Amino acid sequence: MAPDSQDPHELWAQCLLAIERRVRPQSFANWFRPTQIARFDGDMLVIQVPSIVSADWLEKHYLSLIRDVVAEETTLTPKVSFTIEGTSLKVERAPGNGGAEGQEQANQPGVPASVQFSAPTKPETVPLPTAFNAGQTEEQPFSALNVSYTFDGFIVGEGNRFAHAAAMAVAKSPGKTQFNPLFIFGGVGLGKTHLLQAIGNYACAHNLAQRVAYVPSEKFMSDFIESLKNRSSADFQRRYRSADILLIDDIQFLFLRGEHTQTEFFHTFNALHQNGKQIVMTCDSPPEKLEGLEERLLSRFQWGLVTPIEPPDLETRIAILHQKAEINGIPLPNDVAAFLGSYISSNVRELEGALIHLMAYCSVHNTELTVEAAKHIARERGPDPTTELSIESIQRYVANHFDLTLDTLISKTRKQDVATARHIAMFLAKRLTPHPLKMIGLHFGNRDHSTVVHAVQTIEKKCKKDPTFARMIEDFTSAIKQKYAPSF
Ligand code: ADP
Ligand code: MG
Repeated sequence: MAPDSQDPHELWAQCLLAIERRVRPQSFANWFRPTQIARFDGDMLVIQVPSIVSADWLEKHYLSLIRDVVAEETTLTPKVSFTIEGTSLKVERAPGNGGAEGQEQANQPGVPASVQFSAPTKPETVPLPTAFNAGQTEEQPFSALNVSYTFDGFIVGEGNRFAHAAAMAVAKSPGKTQFNPLFIFGGVGLGKTHLLQAIGNYACAHNLAQRVAYVPSEKFMSDFIESLKNRSSADFQRRYRSADILLIDDIQFLFLRGEHTQTEFFHTFNALHQNGKQIVMTCDSPPEKLEGLEERLLSRFQWGLVTPIEPPDLETRIAILHQKAEINGIPLPNDVAAFLGSYISSNVRELEGALIHLMAYCSVHNTELTVEAAKHIARERGPDPTTELSIESIQRYVANHFDLTLDTLISKTRKQDVATARHIAMFLAKRLTPHPLKMIGLHFGNRDHSTVVHAVQTIEKKCKKDPTFARMIEDFTSAIKQKYAPSF
């Protein structure tokens, strides 16, 4: 792919796709997603980054990965440099120069030549083959497992205790427990992929399975479609059906398109299950909430164990922060961990991202890891996106206040106090989020938009009649705003 035959932006987009497969998700989101290509002429590749922190971090930790990927995509080996808004900042090295040698001082005052803490001790750029990859017969390998996703590296807390225990049981006796299939569901960044891959890593390391297939569900789908195009369905079936453990990630995507993929998955599932092979799936919602899922698959998913993974509580978040800091060889003061743990309240990926950001910031600016520095990072990153006002966060808040479970709040019960709480939640969702009525109705047990209109009118009427009720609604509004969109 010569540079003159391709738009550099498209080329960089392709490089990013390749990089995304090889680094951890939060690293990609932090360091690569905000990049753009500034110039590429075959000899020189200039990457535009948002800050000197990013330039420094990318240069220190990812230069060789970037060079490798560019070489794979273009068959060229250009020099790589970084720029911030058009200013050529640093690092222009000939390909082949590695590591710290030849490193140039940044031409900005006060910026150290490199960040001072070590890279994660484990390789980031995916590594060990799966047993499946190692198998000599495979012409089309499955995705490699990320070796850093282990049980040892997984902090157990209230929200994930059960999912962790089930995953561990399955890893130790694949196909031989009651947990077949194991279905783990939960929101983004809560450790589903981590647990899924930990099962594979454990089983491989302990020789408990010959062939472990880790596959994001989109890959299953595209492999299947490809096999139809190439008339190689038999190969596809042989490949998937010969796994000892099939780890299928984010299964919700499988049911979005075409029933053929679903049928194929149904047969794959049956073939594996009948032969006592282990199947583990992750998903963003429980099976019964999966739109488009056929009844026969739903019932199979429920044969084994369906377990949620919930957001970690503060204690677990703090433990995770300490563990991630330790991996980076940085002692994290308790007050800083407590601040970060409170600031990011639900999503481990965000938590990790904020910590990496903080460590890079402190290193580049040569400062200690303090709460002040953490506050600076918090301001820079804005409110935790996972706790931004959403219909669900409002539901949780209201349910909590009235001492109801989320399920009861959304349920069809007409009990007066539940109905009032539900009306309040719908009203606040309308008031505080930009979502259309139809979307709000969907979140409330698939109710019609006219039900939401009715709820909103009921609350408005009550507010007019009853000042105490009106005050309560205003208190809710400001408390929710404060909780989910605080200003730092
Ligand atoms: P999901 O697949 O649920 O979106 P991931 O498994 O990709 O989430 O997790 C996001 C990041 O958070 C990963 O880097 C993972 O290692 C980390 N992580 C999540 N939960 C934990 C945990 N309990 N202990 C340690 N790291 C965790
Ligand atoms: Mg995942």
